[in-house]
Amino acid sequence: MRIKVLGCYGGQLLGFHLTSFLVNGSILLDAGSPTEALTLKEQSAVNHIFLSHTHLDHIKDIAFLADNRSLKRLSGDRSNNIVIHSLQENLDMLKKHFLNNHIWPDFTCLPSKKDPTLSLHAIQPEETVEVDGLKITAIPVNHPVPCTGFLLDQGDTQFIYSADTGPTERLWEIANAQPNLKGVIIDCSFPNAFQHIADISGHLTAKGMAQELRKLDRFGKIPVYLYHMKPETLNVMAAEVEAENIPHLRMLTQVDELLI
Ligand SMILES: [Zn+2]
Ligand SMILES: [Zn+2]
Repeated sequence: MRIKVLGCYGGQLLGFHLTSFLVNGSILLDAGSPTEALTLKEQSAVNHIFLSHTHLDHIKDIAFLADNRSLKRLSGDRSNNIVIHSLQENLDMLKKHFLNNHIWPDFTCLPSKKDPTLSLHAIQPEETVEVDGLKITAIPVNHPVPCTGFLLDQGDTQFIYSADTGPTERLWEIANAQPNLKGVIIDCSFPNAFQHIADISGHLTAKGMAQELRKLDRFGKIPVYLYHMKPETLNVMAAEVEAENIPHLRMLTQVDELLI
């Protein structure tokens, strides 16, 4: 399994992209930044988007990815359409508030209803979907809107992406049930001084992240990668994360590619 970080920040600043990970070249986990981080050729290989939730920082580039794909297909290129997999509530939100022909064209009906650029596939909590040789299971987490993390399973190797979350339970139960868990990407959004904001917005501070990780049976033994840091507080957070002194843990950066 190859996970390329396209964006790993919970805010957008020059040089800091919003959340998106490319798995095995064809599957996106969230879509905050793929059109900023991928060439047109790389974008053409994307067949699936697994969407954790509908906050703008995770859906923004669905708009531009669809636009680019649509143009490519209209120019005669027979690339696939893109399937967006998410909870039904999230797909309804996307259609109602984003791909609604007001904010952006409804690419689930364009260029035609019969052969649209985007198609939507509802997934159930804890249902496992297999695409392009990867098994993906959505696991509900703790955020102010419906949101799921994802368990990725390929061959005999598993990996967990928490997505945006405050303190949560089921994700860690499922993580602990995996025979060969090779790593975790976990929310770490705010410095410790912003605990109150983290609590009401469904995110973790450095301290909260460290407490969450202790729910892992293999705490301190498997690699942990932090994402969703607010870029303007990165230095403070780096010191706070360091102070937690957890082995095999680090903040992700946009040049990272994880081989699992
Ligand atoms: Zn969010
Ligand atoms: Zn977010």
